[in-house]
Amino acid sequence: MFNYNWINGKKWKTEKTIHVMNPATGKVIGDVPSAGKKEVAAAIDAASRAYVSWSKLTPSERGAYLTKWAENLLNKREELALLMSEEQGKPVSEARGEIEGSAQFIKWYAEEGKRIYGEVIPPSSQNQRITVIKQPVGVCALITPWNFPGAMIARKVAPALAAGCTIIVKPASETPKIAIAMFDELMATKIPAGVANLVTGKASIISDVLFEDQRIRKISFTGSTNVGKKLMKKAADQVKRISLELGGNAPVIVFPDSNLDVAAEKIVENKFENCGQMCNGINVIMAHKDIEEELTEKIKYLVQKIKVGEGTKADVQMGPLINDAALQRMEDLVKDAKEKGATLLTGGERIQTELDGYFYSPTILTDITDKMELIQEEIFGPIAPIMTFENEEDVIEFSNKSPYGLAAYFFTNDVNRVYRISERLEYGMVGVNGTQLSVPQAPFGGVKESGMGREGGHFGLDEFVELKYISLTLQ
Ligand code: NAP
Repeated sequence: MFNYNWINGKKWKTEKTIHVMNPATGKVIGDVPSAGKKEVAAAIDAASRAYVSWSKLTPSERGAYLTKWAENLLNKREELALLMSEEQGKPVSEARGEIEGSAQFIKWYAEEGKRIYGEVIPPSSQNQRITVIKQPVGVCALITPWNFPGAMIARKVAPALAAGCTIIVKPASETPKIAIAMFDELMATKIPAGVANLVTGKASIISDVLFEDQRIRKISFTGSTNVGKKLMKKAADQVKRISLELGGNAPVIVFPDSNLDVAAEKIVENKFENCGQMCNGINVIMAHKDIEEELTEKIKYLVQKIKVGEGTKADVQMGPLINDAALQRMEDLVKDAKEKGATLLTGGERIQTELDGYFYSPTILTDITDKMELIQEEIFGPIAPIMTFENEEDVIEFSNKSPYGLAAYFFTNDVNRVYRISERLEYGMVGVNGTQLSVPQAPFGGVKESGMGREGGHFGLDEFVELKYISLTLQ
């Protein structure tokens, strides 16, 4: 099952393959193609040919395929959720939510594609007419990560196709099967051959071909900051357009006037979703010194109730980490923090089960300093460090020191503080009194080393169009 790529509307198999693992059992659950130069070149050829007619369709015609795709995904939500859980590790309930969220994104762009408006601008001379139109960028390469393997595909494919671009998707090697399954549903809409292509396999081989081919006009990448920086340099060779959705290091600041029950609940929900492997996941909890003890107790109570296990089993709230390296990294971060004076409140160890999976216990650390690695870097796992602060200025200064700038959160009931702090935090997204950010109509994305460009809303469509200025001189 799912042992093929989609190129030019056809299933394509290769001799070389890569293994796909279940992170909850450590067992191989299938093989997918390891696409080589030949496959990637064929995908680019197909997408370039298809672009000519796809870009000419009306937005309603393109939107109809997207709407159908969303409906297909919803009809298959249970089997897709199970597949995602098996391959990525997250609980089925989260995977189901991700499929539903992906369908919402796709449906939203099916409609929004109809509103890619241009402008008519008043001229400076009587015989000139100035019109600005928006046109699709062309053939786009979309590179996605494993942590939200469905949503990340939907968030790129939907606006790209709605804008009139054709695409080649390269999903993460940990989660290619869910990408193939989602593509099956896209192909079932009878979208014209070559409009959407999917290649799986080694990133280095695939990306070299994509970057070297001048027909690829745009790269949209979601993944780590390290890889993003390399790709930005590679894009410079041909001045290819590139959007980067990269890592984060989100603080959550809890002021003493907050509702602490709500804050604790929302913080735990965000921090341990997807086993902490979330770009906009909380990296550090900043508690005001007056409420630190009370907040910590509330968080600890909730964290100790989290049921960890195989995501496909009922009632499980947190699955395994994605691989052994991620598990090892959690151990290293906790060891480093403890050696530098942190106190372990709960968790802090591998969970041994009869399964050979990558389970780590939900962890809370206090007595944290900014010298610890888990403060400097993106944790990307189920470890919650708690720090204290005394005043607003200090906590803003601390939060803005990070080289990342994806998401920040704070809790307060003071309306003046809401704007004062939101405006000063150097982040692309700020959540106040809540931690859910990803919705189709809002611009998701970061500043500084968290990337550039936005996904979601009409802003997400701008990433896939070029402006063209047409000057008419009347005679
Ligand atoms: P990653 O290692 O950077 O990989 C992401 C994607 O890039 C995968 O498809 C990967 O393929 C590919 N890739 C790796 N090296 C490449 C290269 N040299 N050239 C071209 N492609 C390359 O990141 P990850 O570990 O999958 O994802 C976790 C990171 O993504 C975290 O830092 C997280 O914060 C970030 N993220 C950001 C957002 C956002 O919206 N800002 C959303 C989700 C995740 P292979 O799998 O084949 O190596």
